Amino acid sequence: MSEKYIAQPDLGFIAQVRGLGGETLKKCFQCATCSVACPIAPEDSPFPRKEMIAASWGLKDKLIGNGDIWLCHQCGDCTDLCPRGAAPGDVLSAVRSAAITEYATPKALAKAVNDPKKLPFLIGIPAVWFAILAFITMNFGDTMTKIFNALFGGGLGGRLNWSHAHEGVEHVIAHANFVSTWFVDMTFIPTAGLVTIVFLLALKRFIDDIHNNAVLEGKTDKTSVDYKALVQAFFRVIPTVLKHEKFNECEANKERATPHMMVLYSFIGLFIVTAVCGMMLYLGNYPGPYPQLNPIKWLANIAGVALVIGSGIMIKNRLDNKDQVTAYKDWFILGVVFILGLTGLLTEMARLAHLEYVSYFIYWVHLIAIFNLFAFLPFSKMAHLVYRLVAMSYAEYGNRR
Ligand code: SF4
Ligand code: SF4
Repeated sequence: MSEKYIAQPDLGFIAQVRGLGGETLKKCFQCATCSVACPIAPEDSPFPRKEMIAASWGLKDKLIGNGDIWLCHQCGDCTDLCPRGAAPGDVLSAVRSAAITEYATPKALAKAVNDPKKLPFLIGIPAVWFAILAFITMNFGDTMTKIFNALFGGGLGGRLNWSHAHEGVEHVIAHANFVSTWFVDMTFIPTAGLVTIVFLLALKRFIDDIHNNAVLEGKTDKTSVDYKALVQAFFRVIPTVLKHEKFNECEANKERATPHMMVLYSFIGLFIVTAVCGMMLYLGNYPGPYPQLNPIKWLANIAGVALVIGSGIMIKNRLDNKDQVTAYKDWFILGVVFILGLTGLLTEMARLAHLEYVSYFIYWVHLIAIFNLFAFLPFSKMAHLVYRLVAMSYAEYGNRR
């Protein structure tokens, strides 16, 4: 028998969900049409009706650690059919945004990513940082050479040498001559490490909460999570995600699957490009730029074009679909992804057109976009990819289909 649940309404949480795009939540009169209409909801205890009542009562604990909110793919089928205009798909999206903020640390940064007034800081801080790094790279090469020699003494067979990344590329436009590859890596590698730690801590709390809710609701009798089985479930879920099978079950916004897939595969392609370029630089002693016919260049260009087109279609769909709420958080991440892809392509085009300083300027904007994407990953809408993957894995692990 499940434990007694004592309702503790949280008015602040209701206001938060409303502010994140769920302002219609109080319109729900619990007819359950949405749960019947949802093509994804499991038969046992389907969403989103139960989440709508929990949201309108401000039952934060019931929602934040509820894996079902992440199984929803915001297709909008339920919103289309809701007789009260309560837009359950948008309410669940707002609850997911609140959950990302709740699990993220530090909270101040999570709130800043949700606050349009803080946007100048989110852009301005990396803008100033990369401008300083560009100034040093372009004006203090000799000083940096001495510092590197003093620190590393030409370690790793001469690879830990300041000028290493620039050898042979002084007379062509190479972005390492604008912001040193060392500086780029010294910025992004620690950032990636910090983001990974923040994310892992958040995911640990998230998994504990999903599991505790499942225990409370009598969906499992296991007192603790079997992480080995959860990881196995994760690998079983990967093909579903790659094929976007859940998206394809939707009707109202079925067309969302294609641009979503384009963006996902672009990131996979760009990840491969970054990994190969990093290995070629540090292990193969090859700094680039790569010739146009090199397969890595092909992959980078195709992924860049797909990223621009995919995110561009997503922006257009949001602008066209007046019935679907698009919160600031959605615009922030869509804008960052689109600018990231566009500046990546324009940087390359300006370089090929021998517009050196135009290329450097666009590359500077590109670095700012990369920083905004990665440094704020656990706090931005992008985090939903990871939370959804974990929630889908937990549902698979718990046989909730
Ligand atoms: S959200 Fe709409 S469809 Fe769902 S239970 Fe409430 S009123 Fe009915
Ligand atoms: S938006 Fe789509 S996936 Fe989400 S609850 Fe509604 S019908 Fe289900």
